[in-house]
Amino acid sequence: MRSLLYARSAPIQSAITITIDLDRKGKATVAHKPEWADCGLCGEHRLTTREHVVPKSLYAPTRSNSRFQRIIIAACKDCNNGSADDDAHFRFVLTLAGDTNSTVDELWSGKVRRALAEKDGRRRALDVFALMRPAPDVGPDRHRIYPADDPRVLRSVRKIIRGLSRHHRLNYPIRDDQVLADVQRLPLADDLFAAMEHRSAEPDVLEYAYLHLDDPEGLLSQWWLRFFKRTSFTGLVYASEAKRQEVVRSMAG
Ligand SMILES: [Zn+2]
Repeated sequence: MRSLLYARSAPIQSAITITIDLDRKGKATVAHKPEWADCGLCGEHRLTTREHVVPKSLYAPTRSNSRFQRIIIAACKDCNNGSADDDAHFRFVLTLAGDTNSTVDELWSGKVRRALAEKDGRRRALDVFALMRPAPDVGPDRHRIYPADDPRVLRSVRKIIRGLSRHHRLNYPIRDDQVLADVQRLPLADDLFAAMEHRSAEPDVLEYAYLHLDDPEGLLSQWWLRFFKRTSFTGLVYASEAKRQEVVRSMAG
């Protein structure tokens, strides 16, 4: 039996060493029958399947069996392509980044370990370790993880925002290049936070808030997302890619 041994560190209380069994196989996913509809992400009328806006894999087994709030939109094959791998990577990073809690522990001991045991598990683990930086201020052999350094993590965040924008019937379709996402670096202003619509997809999995601005010349909506009660991201949806680039340029000075 092959096994992978490493320390789960990041800024958590104590590093945990985990042995991962690489022999176990993951469960097969259920495919839904495709149907013709407007894709919730690209807007084209195509053959679509059900897409979970908040990846189903972020829910611990006790949740996926209960009637948790599922946010589902229709999405075409092109928009769904490759997202299962992004979802697995996103979940892995989120379960590693930050203090542990019961939801994360349940995911970690079940789904995440099983995913690491699949044939791509070793590559996935290496992808995540590439994001870890030594944190000698916390202690020897301790690491921090920086989700903002990882384009795949931010792509997952942008996709969730695009799907939520469709789900809440704000602006649609939203292309990936219209969205600016980042880890939350500063607290949001109190008055902005109070003005936002606050929702959740199970509060211990994802809490989020949005403000619909709908400015055709600039910002369409502003977003705040917090996963597992600890890892927060912000997002801005612009009316066009050009507008987003203009803002990015001005921020760079
Ligand atoms: Zn599409």
